Amino acid sequence: MDKIIDAHIHLDQYTDKEISSMIAHLDDIQCTHLIAVSTHLASSQKTLMLANTYPQVRPAFGFHPEQALPTDSQLGDLFTWMAANKDAMIAIGEIGLPYYLRNETSSDIPFPQEGYIELLDQFLQKAKVWNKPVILHAVYEDAAIVCDLLEKHSIENAHFHWFKGDPVTIEQMIENGYHISVTPDVVYEREIQDLVKLYPLDRMMVETDGPWRFESEFAHQMTHPRMIHNSISAIAALKNMPLSEVYDSLYTNTCRVFMDS
Ligand SMILES: [Zn+2]
Repeated sequence: MDKIIDAHIHLDQYTDKEISSMIAHLDDIQCTHLIAVSTHLASSQKTLMLANTYPQVRPAFGFHPEQALPTDSQLGDLFTWMAANKDAMIAIGEIGLPYYLRNETSSDIPFPQEGYIELLDQFLQKAKVWNKPVILHAVYEDAAIVCDLLEKHSIENAHFHWFKGDPVTIEQMIENGYHISVTPDVVYEREIQDLVKLYPLDRMMVETDGPWRFESEFAHQMTHPRMIHNSISAIAALKNMPLSEVYDSLYTNTCRVFMDS
């Protein structure tokens, strides 16, 4: 079995018992690191605590876009806390734009999309100043907006997690050298399989987005980094490449984005 890194997991959303058991068994599945993302200030604080407890955990701090916008004072508190803890922070994330929230909101209510774009812009300014990679939640038409913002701020080290989007945006992302990551749904989801065929392997990583749950052979199971081995087998088959080469590439890519900066 070859080495893996889970490039995107919400570790703070598991129970303490689930976390300790998961970490205790990481060696058994050759998982060397978990890139643990955060959804707001309290989540970032918990992620930092987990990183201080478990050396395999590499923490990212941010504000997940699929929730109500923060107040000015909430945002101020988050930025102040991030600045104080930026040496421990491996990346800024999870940040981005609210695709699902926007589409679930009744069209009778005006959606504050501009507010989310402004918020993301502020996070990208911090990423530039602090020289940190960004972990992005930006799918379909939102990805094009985010690509333009990244170009505006000259940010190259960008990771679009669980990416889905149109061919024009995919082309722009490849040209700019942005990374994507693939979840276990690559085993059964046609849309993701088509993306994997198209996207260069040397800009790809693997993730669980746990505790988010998956279907098909993963139905009724707690999402766990071990599922990444199934993902990598699927990627190797789709790319028609030797399994060990695919393991090597995915591992190297993840180190390049998160560990070498
Ligand atoms: Zn996530």
